[in-house]
Amino acid sequence: MTKHIGIFGGTFDPVHAGHIRCASFVQQYCRLDSVRLMPCHLPPHRASPGVSAAQRADMVALAIAHNPLLALETLELTHDRPSYTVDSLTTLRNRLTDTQLYFIIGMDSLCYFSQWKNYRLILQLAHVLVCQRPGYDAAMGDAPALLAEFGEQQLSVVKQQASGAIMLLPNPTTDLSATAIRQALRLGQSCDADTLDPAVLNYIQTRRLYQD
Ligand code: ATP
Repeated sequence: MTKHIGIFGGTFDPVHAGHIRCASFVQQYCRLDSVRLMPCHLPPHRASPGVSAAQRADMVALAIAHNPLLALETLELTHDRPSYTVDSLTTLRNRLTDTQLYFIIGMDSLCYFSQWKNYRLILQLAHVLVCQRPGYDAAMGDAPALLAEFGEQQLSVVKQQASGAIMLLPNPTTDLSATAIRQALRLGQSCDADTLDPAVLNYIQTRRLYQD
């Protein structure tokens, strides 16, 4: 039987409650077999000082440990250079037989999705599921044109097609960003469990990550 797998790419620097709530919501709402969180490789000049790719992946593993339907996808971390989403999805498409892929992004990412390398090919490899994010809406940036061409709001229709639909999801929004969390950690402000998983916070504190 065909499997339905979500792929949620990001820097996850660090993974926060906004990411985990989106991943869980999409998995349940779309009844996907699983959702894989796929941390990207970062070139040294973009990486947070003292935080390795392996540590970003460790934090994702800790944050998803309670949910067996979420998984870590390390594909992009095994490369020593940044990967394009289109290339990662091509690899996954070849590896996962009889599987439909659903690439998950936040609304901020949809607003500039036309600038992603080969975005039309991405839509031949997968559907794109879009989570609501405070501060962004479907009237901004590239979103209206993309939705006019690829938008489909009926889950049953989306699941019957192999790829090519962009679907907006009615997820409860979470006003969090990794940038704001890094800033708070640098200033020594505390983060509660609604922001970071306690195991992730403990990992950050014991290694003194995001201090400078
Ligand atoms: P940064 O602040 O460092 O840019 P971020 O919080 O946006 O980080 P990323 O790892 O860059 O996190 O995001 C990965 C994906 O998760 C993106 O598609 C982004 O749109 C989405 N995303 C991140 N935070 C949220 C949120 N609070 N609600 C909905 N989607 C989110």
